Amino acid sequence: AWLVLCPSPSPLLGRDADAPQPATAELFARRQAHLAAPQKNYYAAPPQIERGWREHLFDVEGRAYLDMVNNVTILGHGHPRLAAAVNAQWLRLNTNSRFHYAVITEFSERLAALAPDGLDAVFLVNSGSEANDLAIRLAQAHSGARNMLCLLEAYHGWSAASDAVSTSIADNPRALSTRPDWVHAVVSPNTYRGEFRGPDTAVSYLDAAAPVLEAIDAGGKGLAGFICESVYGNAGGIPLPEGYLREIYAQVRARGGLCIADEVQVGYGRLGHYFWGFEQQGVVPDIITVAKGMGNGHPLGAVITTREIAQSLQKEGTFFSSTGGSPVSCIAGMTVLDIMAEEKLQENARTVGDHLKARLAALIDRHPIAGAVHGMGLYLGLEFVRDRTTLTPATEETAAICDRLLELGVIMQPTGDHQNVLKIKPPLCLSIESADFFADMLEKVLDEGW
Ligand code: PLP
Repeated sequence: AWLVLCPSPSPLLGRDADAPQPATAELFARRQAHLAAPQKNYYAAPPQIERGWREHLFDVEGRAYLDMVNNVTILGHGHPRLAAAVNAQWLRLNTNSRFHYAVITEFSERLAALAPDGLDAVFLVNSGSEANDLAIRLAQAHSGARNMLCLLEAYHGWSAASDAVSTSIADNPRALSTRPDWVHAVVSPNTYRGEFRGPDTAVSYLDAAAPVLEAIDAGGKGLAGFICESVYGNAGGIPLPEGYLREIYAQVRARGGLCIADEVQVGYGRLGHYFWGFEQQGVVPDIITVAKGMGNGHPLGAVITTREIAQSLQKEGTFFSSTGGSPVSCIAGMTVLDIMAEEKLQENARTVGDHLKARLAALIDRHPIAGAVHGMGLYLGLEFVRDRTTLTPATEETAAICDRLLELGVIMQPTGDHQNVLKIKPPLCLSIESADFFADMLEKVLDEGW
């Protein structure tokens, strides 16, 4: 039922996207020889993808896969309208963003309109890492301090400052002691397997953060800011405990620091019930960072903040990104927002996400290894455990389940610090039929003996 028609792209001028690809094994050997070694690649021999259409990918042998891990291509693959808009803009003009060109201004206005009142200054960049680096730099420039507070088991990117505050063991195992001395991490409020899980979680996690804040106070050098995802993303979308952001934001602001909401992964409609993750906590950050889906795969990111905070960068010189917010990037960004609205993709994330979450929750009743389902909308986490009391992570089992899912035509990878969570983040156009297909295949795999 999920077989779809995938149109063949029209022949391109110059390099032909329809040209036959080299054989899988040969291309993979060449990849290993030249593509940067530590690039994350879960499958030992990944399928060689040839094209995509909506939530499906097709390999060179014509096999179809349901893409359940793509949090970049939020409209789905191969959207013809986006391709047409980007092509037309390329033909008219693409250049760096310092030029006075209408679509750059229009896209910035559009982003400011999506942000809470007062956050109407927009910096356009190329990626989430770059957005977080800039946000940290803004917090440091605004406060005149350098110290940054972050959460343990978090990921914010791989460029200098975003890497420094990325503490997830799976993504960045370097010890905290090797980080710049301005990085201060507090325990992550993982209410499922966290140290303080229980009814008073917000209070316990805030108590645990207190000594770190006191040490920053004792150092006498002030606090520049605090960065975190508004939903605990690394572990598959666990909501932060009620009141957590309100309280910690208040403590950071009392020290003159700025609060940065990293919405790169969870924001922009993916949660279905909210456009931004921080809405769930009833707070308004000082700086929002966003990237991934906003260009549907085209490199695009943004930092949205107040005019006053934006101005503080002038003390440090100017901000300039050669390609961030180029006309083509901005047309991609504008068209993504148009299509999201017309195709009601945030609503789709809510309805299909609620349906899928209910199907996954039903697996918990039948399969002891399925410990919990987290998240909302089309940002869900299914956590596998060996024992529901000790919550021992079922790491090897999760890898085997993913391998079997691939055989059944589903692309899914383990994530989280224990690599025992299926982080479910498909394109927002996922249909109910595809959601059911995924749930059916997962059920089949679990019925086979996990
Ligand atoms: N922040 C979060 C929460 C992310 O998940 C990621 C990427 O996975 C980033 C920042 C970095 O974004 P990028 O890969 O576009 O640099």
